[in-house]
Amino acid sequence: MAVSGTILPGVSKEQVQERAAAARQAQTVWARYTLSERVRRLRAVWAEIDAARPRIVETIREETGKPVAEIETMEIDGVSLILTYFTRHAHRILKDRPVSKPWFFFNKRAYVRHVPRGIIGLITPWNMPFLIPVGDAVPALISGNAVLLKPSEWTPRSALIVEEIVKATGLLPEGLFQVIIGDGAVGAAVADESDMILFTGSTASGKKVARAAAERLKPVVLELGGKHPMIVLRDAPLERAVKAAVWGRFANSGQICVGVERVFVEEELYPRFTEAVAKEIKSLRQGEGGEDTDLGRLIFPRQLEVVQAHLEDARAKGARVTGGEIIDAEKLLVSPALVLDARPDMKVMSEETFGPVLAVMPVRSPEEALRLANDTPFGLAASVWSRDVARAEALSAFVEAGLVSVNDVLSHYVVCSLPFGGVKDSGLGRRHSDEGMRMFCQPQSVLVHEWPPNLPEMWWFPYSRMKTRLISWMTRFA
Ligand code: NAD
Repeated sequence: MAVSGTILPGVSKEQVQERAAAARQAQTVWARYTLSERVRRLRAVWAEIDAARPRIVETIREETGKPVAEIETMEIDGVSLILTYFTRHAHRILKDRPVSKPWFFFNKRAYVRHVPRGIIGLITPWNMPFLIPVGDAVPALISGNAVLLKPSEWTPRSALIVEEIVKATGLLPEGLFQVIIGDGAVGAAVADESDMILFTGSTASGKKVARAAAERLKPVVLELGGKHPMIVLRDAPLERAVKAAVWGRFANSGQICVGVERVFVEEELYPRFTEAVAKEIKSLRQGEGGEDTDLGRLIFPRQLEVVQAHLEDARAKGARVTGGEIIDAEKLLVSPALVLDARPDMKVMSEETFGPVLAVMPVRSPEEALRLANDTPFGLAASVWSRDVARAEALSAFVEAGLVSVNDVLSHYVVCSLPFGGVKDSGLGRRHSDEGMRMFCQPQSVLVHEWPPNLPEMWWFPYSRMKTRLISWMTRFA
């Protein structure tokens, strides 16, 4: 069976406007519930979604061809961890925050209140069709907002199941969480109707969304592409580093924004590292989304062209390439590829491949590795590998990336207390963490005069020389 994705008919701009009006109305009801009530209802909704796990797994499997293990753990358990973090910490994160003030304001209270923004537009890609949209909807909803979700036109069905379950529970006001189907133009209409946009996708589309948001002065958070450099020092723990490179690249068939794209190995370790990586790749079991497969297919047809173009370019420029054969073009099945002796001028090292291609390059020193790692417009994830953890940690501070790991890969997303996001062309702002929940709220600064109830302040009219001098004296001790 050929892979066709799920292109469903998109909605019109007018329909997006109607949906947004319904979302706005629902949000005013939702925002008046107490936080405890919102948390309770979202936990109950999640219990229903989790109960529909087999149907969701099957839908994602059909749409993406991912191994079942990856759907269960990365997509569904991933959301469960996000929900646990935000439901457990919401009260602490969103509680009013008292602030300091000048001493002569001793009779007033000053604090910051977190007011929901209104409608959050979530625009999401095809590589994680459940984790990203549902995971981002959780903190947006808990903090009192409505959500308009525009999933990728290529993989919309699991989000539609969630919408259906939400409706059936009757636990959220009608229209509070809506899934809007369509392409980029529909995404743009959703962005237009939203009070804040959280966009996840390619850098090219992210820039368009940011330009449109700037026109309307709307906050926008961008989670974009990456080119993970893995820096393997000569004293790296070899077995773990090899398995991490292979899992970090070939999980989700290489279609992970934080996936390992470039490996820089100190030349002393290069022969042993590359030999072990080649062996490890051979052990991968590839199939079409079964229980016991490690590697699935590509999700999006255009990725096949990108993968082939990157491999051809690497071959033409003298790299040693193994694998990367098209097993079945219609099914988007391509074997895992290893590119050895890669060089910075090759596409595999300079452009996001986002496919099952691992490029490895020898370097003379950690400094050379660091220079090459940073020589890219991207700055999402990176990792440094050494048995000397302190040294690796020190080196990681100089890597230009929003997410760095030492002797680890791909774990940031589920450690929700960590801000997740990139620098340079990899994005703007962060999801997750306390700040990643507060961003869904407007900080409202509150100042309350408490006593004496009916006396004017001395800095109000009428002015006098003596009052002015007294105020200046008071401010010196503020
Ligand atoms: P894409 O940019 O083509 O599409 C992403 C979403 O944006 C889709 O829903 C699409 O319909 C919509 N869209 C496209 N143009 C739009 C516009 N002008 N206005 C509004 N919406 C628009 O990306 P993709 O191919 O679906 O996803 C792959 C990319 O996503 C890769 O670059 C990958 O690295 C990145 N990604 C990043 C993260 C992260 O957290 N940083 C996570 C996953 C994927």
